[in-house]
Amino acid sequence: MARSKTDLQTGHSVLSARSVSRGSAIGTAVCLYGRKRQFNKLAIDDTRVEKEIRRFRASIRLAKQQLKRIASVPDAASTGVFDMHLMILDDPGFNDKVERQIRDQKVNAEWAVKTVTDAYVLNQKSIADEHLREKYIDLEDVADRILTALGGGKQSSLVLKNDSIVVAKELKPSTLIELTASNPRAIVTEHGGWTSHTFILARELNLPSVAGVSGVFRRIKDGDELIVDAYDGTVIVGPSPETQKKFVQQRERRTILDLDPMKSAPRELKTLDGREIIIRANVDLADVYQRAKQLGSRGIGLYRSEFLFNQFKGFPSEAEQVRAYKKIASEAAGDPVRIRTFDLSADQLVAQTGEKEKNPALGVRAIRLMLSHRKEFRTQLRAILMASVEHPIDIVVPMMSDIAEIDETKQLLEGERQALKKKGVVIAMPKIGAMLEVPATVMIAEDIGREVDFFCLGTNDLVQYLLAVDRDNAGVAESFRSLHPAVLRSIRTVLAAGAKCGIPTVVCGEMAGSPAYVALLVGLGATELSMNVNSIPRVRRTVEAIAYEEARNIVNEVAACRRSDEVEDTIRSRFKEKWSHIFTDDLLPVKRR
Ligand code: PEP
Ligand code: MG
Repeated sequence: MARSKTDLQTGHSVLSARSVSRGSAIGTAVCLYGRKRQFNKLAIDDTRVEKEIRRFRASIRLAKQQLKRIASVPDAASTGVFDMHLMILDDPGFNDKVERQIRDQKVNAEWAVKTVTDAYVLNQKSIADEHLREKYIDLEDVADRILTALGGGKQSSLVLKNDSIVVAKELKPSTLIELTASNPRAIVTEHGGWTSHTFILARELNLPSVAGVSGVFRRIKDGDELIVDAYDGTVIVGPSPETQKKFVQQRERRTILDLDPMKSAPRELKTLDGREIIIRANVDLADVYQRAKQLGSRGIGLYRSEFLFNQFKGFPSEAEQVRAYKKIASEAAGDPVRIRTFDLSADQLVAQTGEKEKNPALGVRAIRLMLSHRKEFRTQLRAILMASVEHPIDIVVPMMSDIAEIDETKQLLEGERQALKKKGVVIAMPKIGAMLEVPATVMIAEDIGREVDFFCLGTNDLVQYLLAVDRDNAGVAESFRSLHPAVLRSIRTVLAAGAKCGIPTVVCGEMAGSPAYVALLVGLGATELSMNVNSIPRVRRTVEAIAYEEARNIVNEVAACRRSDEVEDTIRSRFKEKWSHIFTDDLLPVKRR
């Protein structure tokens, strides 16, 4: 959790945070608000005022249509909640105030909705009667709905100046994708962790990021000058000119693993004692594969197809999917491609209706969700088949927990394959892989291994579910321990099961892109690692600089450890003894006590 201290000499405050994408930057804070649809404050000129008002009115109309639809469902109607939401939308006082804000303050509609709602909420929260007081939640819900409706239009308001550092409570992956066009310099958030999809993407984009700044909007205001050090995990708010100068001088500080970004690298990669390690790429944005290939990647180990869902704001059509998968396959040009079927949660599907699951990570998610949306699942499988006419594409089943899910996927796939065959399109059965990321699958890994062609070991979710630690919750980031003895034993079990079944296992969670963990994974027997493109050079340097035998000895020593602290202490001291030239302190597990 972030602590803040004021530097007595310089007067600026230093916030401590958690580094989630290495690098550093200096720039101006742009605060992003909103939960489903994120936005910032934008100044508009006179010519834009009427347009913004029209946008606001259209959003009210859309929000009303949605609410009327929801309110007509018998269960929803009986609660009366949605009628109340409709009343708020009809309230001329509210609408007038928003329009006046747009006109008088010359701001975007999102900002006007936020400021007017904030004032209403504040007022509501001051009411003595508890029952009435709690109605502020409805106000927030309605505002969210309007903001989502405002974001539905073509006009995006997410355009940043070129020295922006994005500050948010939480940043959604879809918002980050939208922001990339503006090239922000860094990200600072309150929530999220090392394995959150937003930060996986940030690392892919080489965007310095820190998370875990509690009370972020109390500590950082729109327009504040910031220095983000995402090596150490600090944010300096309002640095003096002296501090800024010092920062610029120091920013070239790099470790041996970061030095000299590679221009290209051979495909073959071996440890010092000759053990071959295959590098693959986790690719979310198709065009990064060329760079990955230059760096020696041998195919796409994981393509998270749900990123398309973010891009298209819903299930993409068959044609859109065929186009996207063909692009991936042709970028890979003959190298293996593994497309993971949509790993979505129910709340992503119902973002428009506002229905919520209490615990989406354990809810209708990934393969479970797609098997309950068969039409959309069949469309996806058909699209993958059609895209594999020229280049074979492998299919990965996310979050499986029972072999029956693999059986059903195969049946659906075979059905689509036969249907295409009848139309004269003949496609070989793709290889099927299972994501092993639910603890139950570790225990039945050998049984699963007899039903699939390969394993993808998803360490991000495996750690989350083994330890019951939300990977997106900065408040429990200290407990997200990739070096917990149960995690290491699970990895060993899966690798052994894959070897016994004669199928490959690719480690594709974030551990595979992190140098210190890579040394351990190699020692545990991993021979295939899939990671984001920017991690490839550092992972290559790690592999080339270590001996498998030495890594295995360290792994055998930590196998006797019974506590995460012991594992981490042992690793810190052994790595320093043997490999101090590779692992600087910021690459080793931090001491927690
Ligand atoms: C994982 O869980 O490790 C994984 C690779 O998938 P994702 O990060 O997309 O959940
Ligand atoms: Mg996962």
